[in-house]
Amino acid sequence: MTTPVEVATHCPYCALQCGMILREHADRRVEVVARDFPTNRGGLCQKGWTAAELLDHPDRLTTPLLRDPEDGVLKPASWEDAYDFIVTKIKGIQERHGRDAIAVFGGGGLTNEKAYALGKFARVALRTKNIDYNGRFCMSSAAAAQIRSFGVDRGLPFPMAELSHADTILIVGANVNETMPPFARYLTEQRARGGVQIAIDPRATATARAATLHLAPTPGTDLALANGLLHIAIMEGLIDEDYIATRTTGFDEVRKAVAGYWPARVERLTGVPIADLETTARALASGRAIILTARGAEQHSKGVDTVTAFINLALALGLPGRPGSGYGCLTGQGNGQGGREHGQKADQLPGYRKIDDPAARAHMAEVWGMSPDEIPGPGISAYELLSALGTVDGPKAMLVFGSNPVISAPNAVYTEARIRDLELLLVADFVLSETAALADVVLPTAQWAEEDGTMTNLEGRVLRRRALRKPPPGTGTDLAVITELASRLGGDYGARFDSDPRVVFEELRRATAGGVADYAGVTWERVDAEDGVFWPCPSVDRAGTPRLFEVSFATPDGRARFVPVEHRPVAEDVDADYPLYLTTGRVLTQYQSGAQTRRIRGLQGKPFVEMHPDLAASLGIVAGQECRVTSRRGTMTAPARLTEHIRPDTVFTPFHFPGAARANSLTGDALDPISRMPEFKVCAVRVEPGEDL
Ligand code: SF4
Repeated sequence: MTTPVEVATHCPYCALQCGMILREHADRRVEVVARDFPTNRGGLCQKGWTAAELLDHPDRLTTPLLRDPEDGVLKPASWEDAYDFIVTKIKGIQERHGRDAIAVFGGGGLTNEKAYALGKFARVALRTKNIDYNGRFCMSSAAAAQIRSFGVDRGLPFPMAELSHADTILIVGANVNETMPPFARYLTEQRARGGVQIAIDPRATATARAATLHLAPTPGTDLALANGLLHIAIMEGLIDEDYIATRTTGFDEVRKAVAGYWPARVERLTGVPIADLETTARALASGRAIILTARGAEQHSKGVDTVTAFINLALALGLPGRPGSGYGCLTGQGNGQGGREHGQKADQLPGYRKIDDPAARAHMAEVWGMSPDEIPGPGISAYELLSALGTVDGPKAMLVFGSNPVISAPNAVYTEARIRDLELLLVADFVLSETAALADVVLPTAQWAEEDGTMTNLEGRVLRRRALRKPPPGTGTDLAVITELASRLGGDYGARFDSDPRVVFEELRRATAGGVADYAGVTWERVDAEDGVFWPCPSVDRAGTPRLFEVSFATPDGRARFVPVEHRPVAEDVDADYPLYLTTGRVLTQYQSGAQTRRIRGLQGKPFVEMHPDLAASLGIVAGQECRVTSRRGTMTAPARLTEHIRPDTVFTPFHFPGAARANSLTGDALDPISRMPEFKVCAVRVEPGEDL
C-alpha cells in the first residue's frame, strides 16, 4: 500500500487562513484534514473542507485559450501562440496610445510573492501607472482610516487569541458566524466567560442573533451611531483622560464634533433606541474592550470617516495597545492583508510605502534597478480604472490576475460594458470565470495546492502556503507568466523577474525593509519553524510583533491622531421611485465572486432576495417567489426569502452570483473620497413580484 503524500498548508479562501493538511492518496484523491493553528484551532468551515475538490475539477483550464477573430469563440492555443499574441498586442497598444494604455488588475487572494511581482511587473516591465486590485472593494476604507489615525494598517493589531479575554466586543458590520465560522468560536468562548457582545448590523444575522445586544441602524448611519456612543462616553465621564493626554493628539476637535450627537438626535438618525446606545457605551468602558469593523461599516462613500469614528471611540476609551483591548478590521480576502502591502495598489509601493513619497521611490528604484523618475504613478483606483476602460483617454488593454471584476465590481452593467470595449483583455485563472469568458486570451494557472508561497493573514501573521503536487500539464504559475511576459517585452526585463517564489520573497524582504510593513526579518525558514511570523519584523534576530501600539503608534510623534468626522447622508437615498434600501453581502457557502465555490458540489448556496414578511405582504410577494429588484443602474431577479431578521425598509442579497442574479448590477458608483471604496452597502431600489411560482 502506498503511503499518502501529505503537506501542511492553509485554506485557499478567507483571511483567517485556517491551517489544514492536504493528504493525496494513490488514486489522486486529495483529503482535507483540519490542523491546529491559532486562527482555527482544528476547525474549518464548509468551504475549507471542500477546497480540494477544485484541484481535479472538470472545469479546470489546462490549455491557453485564444479568441478566434472569425467566429469570436475562445479556442485552445499553444502557450507560444498565446504569448506572441499578448506581447504583440501590448507593444502595439503602447506604441499607439502610450504606456498607461495597459491596465493591470490584481487580487487580494494572490500570494505575497505574486502581489509583489505583479506590482513590479506593472511599474518595471509595462511602465504603466494603471494598476489596482480588487482589495480596493474590500477593506480599503479601514486601511485608510487606520493609517490616518495610527500611521499603520494591520487588520488586527493584536493576535486573535486576545478576543477570548475581552470583557466587551463590539462587532460592526460583520457576520463572522457565516463568513469565518472558526473565528466565531472565539466569540462563543468570550460569551461563555461572561463577556458582553454587541453587534451593529441592519440585519439580525447569525452573528447578531448570538450577541448579547443587537443594534440595527438604518443603513448608512453607522458614523452617527459611533459619534453618539462617544458623546455618551464623554457626558458620563467614561473616557480615559490620562490615555488621551499621553498617547493621542486632536481630542478637543473630536470632543467638539461629537457634541452635536446627543442621544435623541442619534436615535432619530439611526433608529437605535437611546437605552441601547447607553448600554453599549457603558459596556465598552467597563473593562477590556475590542471594537471590530468590517465591510458593513467600510463599504460606503463615507467608509473612511465611519471607521475613523469607531477608532475615535476606541482611543477615547484608551483601548488600542492594551491587552485584550483595541480596534481591529476583519479583512476578508485570503491575502487581503499581504495583497495590499506589496504594491498592487495604485498609490502604494512595497512595504506599504506611498508612491508619491520621494524617499520611497528612491528606495524601490534601487531595488528594481531603475531611476526614481522612471517609476510611474500614482494611478487611479479600481473602480475609476474599470470605468475608464476603452474610453478615449482610458486604458485599451487590461491584464487580470486573481480577480473576477465582472461579478465583484459595482455598477456592473456599466463596468462590464467598459471591459467589453477593450482591445485586449487577458485573464490568468484556473477556471473560466465570468471575466475570463469575455477575454481575448485566457492563461490557465496553477492552484493554491500546486505552488509554494506566503500569505499574510488578518492578524498580520506571515504564513507558508505549501505545494502538495505539481501543476497539471498545460498550466503555468502566475509567477511564470509574469516572468515570461516581462522577458518577451524586451530590454533586460526578463533578468529582473523570477518564477521561483522563494527568490521573489527574498527580493520582497529587501523591498519592504524599513517600510511600515517590514518583512526584512521574515524568512521562509522562520515561518516554517514558528508556524507564522507577525510583521513588522525588521531583522532575523528580532521576534515578530504580535501586538502593535503597546508603547507608541506609527506616527511621527508616536501618538495616535483623533480625527473629527461628521455624519452625512448616503450617496443615493430612498425616494418614491426607489423606496427601499438594498444592502449586499456574503453567505456561508460562497466565497467572493463565487467563481470557485459555485463549482463545488457540496456548497449549494443559491441566490435570494431577503426581505421582511411585512414588506413582502405589502408588495404581494410570497416566500420563494421570483422577485425583481431594480435600481437606477440595473435589475436582478432571485427568489424571495422572508425573515423577520431584517428591517422592513431594507432588502438584502448576496453578491456571489452571475447572470440575472448579479447583485452588483444594482450597486452604485459613489466612492469614498479618500479610500475610493464604492458604496456597495447601500443603494435605493424598488422590488416587484417577478414570475409566479
Ligand atoms: Fe477557514 Fe475561511 Fe477557509 Fe472557512 S474559508 S476554512 S473560515 S480560511
